Amino acid sequence: MIRDNEYARLIRFFPSRGIKIVRAQGQYVWDIDGKRYLDYHTGNGAAFLGHSNPVIVEMIIEQASKVMTCPPIFDSQVLDDCLAMLGKILPRRLKNVYFLNSGSEAVELALKLARKRTGRRRFASFTGAFHGRTMGALAMTHNPKYRAGYDPFPWEHIFLPFNDVSSLDKIDESFAAVIIEPVQGEGGLSVANKEFMKALADRCRNMGSILIIDEVQTGFGRTGRLWSHEEYDIDPDIMVAGKSIGGGFPVSIVAVNDEIASRVEEAEHGSTHGGNPLALAAVIGGTKVLLRDNVPLKSAEKGNHLANGLSEIAKTYPSIVRGVKGKGLMIGLDIRFNPAEIIRLLQTRGLLALKAGSTVLRFLPPYLITEEDIDWSIRVIDEAVRLYCEHTGKRG
Ligand code: PMP
Repeated sequence: MIRDNEYARLIRFFPSRGIKIVRAQGQYVWDIDGKRYLDYHTGNGAAFLGHSNPVIVEMIIEQASKVMTCPPIFDSQVLDDCLAMLGKILPRRLKNVYFLNSGSEAVELALKLARKRTGRRRFASFTGAFHGRTMGALAMTHNPKYRAGYDPFPWEHIFLPFNDVSSLDKIDESFAAVIIEPVQGEGGLSVANKEFMKALADRCRNMGSILIIDEVQTGFGRTGRLWSHEEYDIDPDIMVAGKSIGGGFPVSIVAVNDEIASRVEEAEHGSTHGGNPLALAAVIGGTKVLLRDNVPLKSAEKGNHLANGLSEIAKTYPSIVRGVKGKGLMIGLDIRFNPAEIIRLLQTRGLLALKAGSTVLRFLPPYLITEEDIDWSIRVIDEAVRLYCEHTGKRG
């Protein structure tokens, strides 16, 4: 029976941020009262190429008017075009790709492939890691709050201390795979150091364990490289990416080496919406923007500018701010307390930000922010931290 005037209720795993967004364009969003916000939240980083990037919007609209549903068992022009674009940007040894809808789903497939290819059962990830909320990805995710009440998890699993080379000898020949983020996104913006990443890659190679690099948050230029792991001169077996690759449209990819791809079995995996033509059009558009605007370079330059401003704030308020963390346009302030109140102060002043770990104030700006945007945001962040000092009676 249809009932008028009855609303469904959203299940809120997180409370509302208290503003109703009615428009979003480029680096800005507007609420229902017409107030403009500079967006350093970007939908958890998904709108890194700017809200409603015109190149991507045009691709999606054009595709929607042609074919909107077409699973990849049928050939299509948009699939050919998308593979041609990805061929330009995927790491040299990771040119085999499968399309899914979310980061978690991409991680699940990566784990499944590693389990079956190696015939091994054990997995390792790191303290502070975030790889998603579906059961396999959650098994790799460290935050006890997210894990509580869901064990037993489907994979045998250990957490190793992040950036601790000496613990890597725990990875032995019983491990199917190790999964790592080059910069930990949700966990607090810790950056993997070079020695550690190199030692991890060597250890995986020596033990025959698959190395999965999770670039869901770091990838597509955000940290100042096309793929963040390029910085380390390593050769992972699998890479997963999501968030920004579709310019805000839900799409993720799993990219694997020839060895793994050559042993894929029929019917081993599948997804109704994975490889949807609109998602593929969005990836084509996203890649065009990435190449046209040299997004990695812009992230590096603008990230430096932002980091300099944030360092000044850290120096001004040492008893509130421990320091600057992150890389490129995945950057933040390590606050000595829960940053929730500062995030609220920023929002009232027209800047949207988010949290990482329990103490990091995280900024995920789109690559097209201007120098003026950055300078303005630094002033606003400075003011919010100062007000926080005054409110709480904490000394700068
Ligand atoms: N891996 C990493 C590194 C992430 O940051 C995220 C999302 N924050 C995920 C996986 C999961 O992605 P999704 O929310 O799209 O499932």
